[in-house]
Amino acid sequence: DIKIGIRHLDKHYGAGARRTHALRDVCLDIAAGEFVTLVGASGCGKSTLLRTLGGLEEYAEGDIVCNGASVDGPGPDRAMVFQSYSLYPWLTVTQNIKFCRRLKHHREDATSADVEMAAGRAEALVALMGLGHVAHAYPAELSGGMRQRVAIARALMMRPDVLLMDEPFGALDAQTREVMHDLIRHVYLLEKTTVVFVTHDVEEAIYLGQRVVVMAPRPGRIDSIIDIPFGAR
Ligand code: ADP
Ligand code: ADP
Repeated sequence: DIKIGIRHLDKHYGAGARRTHALRDVCLDIAAGEFVTLVGASGCGKSTLLRTLGGLEEYAEGDIVCNGASVDGPGPDRAMVFQSYSLYPWLTVTQNIKFCRRLKHHREDATSADVEMAAGRAEALVALMGLGHVAHAYPAELSGGMRQRVAIARALMMRPDVLLMDEPFGALDAQTREVMHDLIRHVYLLEKTTVVFVTHDVEEAIYLGQRVVVMAPRPGRIDSIIDIPFGAR
């Protein structure tokens, strides 16, 4: 059951003398429900690949299919989480989680059922992510780890099939990272999303991934894929 199919993806930035070859002939299948980590040295193209999957980057050569449809922009089937949390500073934790333009509860013509559904989903995510005690706090009042919990909850709000995470714990201290690793595995098992997780940290990639995709240096191409059986941890 293939969730994402990447075929001969090639990607450049810029033009002329400033042209950078970022991805070269990347082919990768990701099955539904897989937790894939993407690891490689800085500059090898991990972010570019993830952003392209998320619809944030255009690509001229190759093909990306998600849920049987060609990826040509953002979609409700894919949500992204970045290293910088990108929360709205003037919204509370709960408001940040609920703030999703694709959900109907914002709109003038929203029914009370839409509003209730959004509130219920947000409440469940606040509980799942351990945010109950800060539900009405603002991002500036929170630690980095708690901010990233909010960003993950917001990404999950619209029940995406695929969660795309770009070095989400890169800015956190070692102890907080450990807590977040347990949390993201718990979330993954409960929400049953497909996860693509980018990191430059080999240890993190092996700890979290069911499959570790190793990218070779620039221009990024896949060097090897390591399958880690569940029993091996
Ligand atoms: P990684 O995430 O593995 O560190 P990136 O995907 O960020 O790698 O970068 C891959 C290559 O593309 C690097 O050479 C980088 O300098 C280049 N690159 C990334 N983003 C841009 C951009 N917006 N404009 C020009 N070059 C870029
Ligand atoms: P609660 O009643 O649970 O606190 P609300 O529904 O009142 O939650 O608040 C969440 C909503 O607030 C968001 O869906 C969003 O539409 C709205 N909102 C608040 N401030 C802003 C803002 N500055 N820009 C856009 N929307 C905002």
